[in-house]
Amino acid sequence: MPAEEVFVALGSNIGDSMTIVEEAIVALGNITQCRLLGYSSLYRSAAIGDIPQDDFINAVARIETDLQPLALLLELQAIENAYYRCRDQEQHWGPRTLDLDIILFGNRSFHDSHLTVPHAEFCNRLFVLEPMFEIDGDRFIPGHGSLRYLIDNAPPLAMQRLDRGND
Ligand code: AMP
Repeated sequence: MPAEEVFVALGSNIGDSMTIVEEAIVALGNITQCRLLGYSSLYRSAAIGDIPQDDFINAVARIETDLQPLALLLELQAIENAYYRCRDQEQHWGPRTLDLDIILFGNRSFHDSHLTVPHAEFCNRLFVLEPMFEIDGDRFIPGHGSLRYLIDNAPPLAMQRLDRGND
């Protein structure tokens, strides 16, 4: 099977989130059978939902992988766990040390008990769409539309692109 291109969204709002996200991007490129093709700037975004919590640091990475989706998910969860993420104590929409989500996996579209691809909520998350646009331009996503269209129609979100050395 040819390698497939995958977009991974990263988010953190506990600890030294900028360092955590930057280290996690490097870790993505070190997964067996994965190569890091590119990654966005870091973004600061307001947390979604009613739980009072710190802003998130977000980014998106583009990788190429020979792994199947579930195998990649397990690798992403191993990276999350390395940052002491404890799923049992987490609240939905709550704070987290590191969250890694598969947004697109090649042109695949499927849903099972472990994974929904494309990610079920990505169209509603500017903190995913804006970084994707930064690294990939106005990509057309089958079944959803162009990134520009999705950005223009996503719920508003207070967010800021962080320039290195200016944050
Ligand atoms: P989260 O709390 O956002 O990390 O979601 C946790 C669960 O979402 C994981 O245990 C996955 O099995 C499931 N999940 C479903 N679709 C995806 C996806 N596209 N990327 C990552 N996790 C997913």
